[in-house]
Amino acid sequence: MLPPETEMLKAWQHRDETYDGVFYLAVRTTGIFCCPSCPARRPRPENVEYFNSPRQALAAGYRPCLRCRPMERPGSPPDWVKDLVRRVETASSPLRDQDLRDMNIDPARARRYFKRSHGMTFHAYQRAWRLGGALHQIRQGDQPDQAAADAGFQSLSGFRDAFGRHFETTPGRADDLDPIVTRMLESPLGPLLACATSSGVCLLEFTDRRMLATQISTLRRHFKRPITPGTNSHLDQLAEELEEYFARDRTEFTVTLDAPGTPFQVRIWSALQRIPYGETWSYEQLASTVGSPGGCRAAGRANGMNRIAIVIPCHRVVNKSGSLGGYGGGLRRKQFLLDLETGADHLWSDA
Ligand SMILES: [Zn+2]
Repeated sequence: MLPPETEMLKAWQHRDETYDGVFYLAVRTTGIFCCPSCPARRPRPENVEYFNSPRQALAAGYRPCLRCRPMERPGSPPDWVKDLVRRVETASSPLRDQDLRDMNIDPARARRYFKRSHGMTFHAYQRAWRLGGALHQIRQGDQPDQAAADAGFQSLSGFRDAFGRHFETTPGRADDLDPIVTRMLESPLGPLLACATSSGVCLLEFTDRRMLATQISTLRRHFKRPITPGTNSHLDQLAEELEEYFARDRTEFTVTLDAPGTPFQVRIWSALQRIPYGETWSYEQLASTVGSPGGCRAAGRANGMNRIAIVIPCHRVVNKSGSLGGYGGGLRRKQFLLDLETGADHLWSDA
């Protein structure tokens, strides 16, 4: 599923990073493939070939670019990252730099990759993962010293320190803690960052690489809670429902949401969820539905503040004239979602 060639051409010529992960371009003259946002000099269009995935580009004999490193994009983790994450999830004690080298992974590269894709270094990721596991165990009724040992901490005091720094409380108060759990989800529109509390999904956004760290720290500030990589039942359900949605097997989301906001925002967001699949409303319609017929601009703003893309379908609001209006994830994604829902044959049209 590739966008039309004219659209891809425009995307890489403008180094549009909202297309990163959507397609890859390979340059016949150099034998190298890149992400659309690569800072390298632009090749001549007649020398470019397009691929859906890095794997396909590799299979066609291209090598990954050393500047934009297309194998290390968030959303489609390279094999070495998948291996590493599996090791973290199964290891009985924390992995050291030497363990990474034994796996033929350069520790500096791992640090950079995790910093970019998760907003934290590899060691911070690993620590957060282990602490998240310990928190879960304590909540299930295990004693802190047992949880500490299972999480690979040498001493209970070391565990308490790390726990306190990460969760800003003591293991004894673990029951009051409700950290935000976060994971990346893949989609035909590029990777999404999904977050949930124990009450429900609190964020679903397209992750355009440059914005990721900002998005994560905004969330942390907003909810005033620590963030832990992992998953919970809400995120699992979201992943499943999204897959069905993109396959046109689902027209309504049933996953529980945790979307606090001002009373006006909450009204707007619940109105959005009443717009039927496959239909669009104007901003005027949205405003009058919440009893604020003159409040078109305020309705538009609240619409734009929606943190749970797709599930709270802010993409279903368009200008009265029929033009698309705005969209935080980029107009091309908005067009794609509307086309998907109206059953259009061609999912990529020029937005
Ligand atoms: Zn490149």
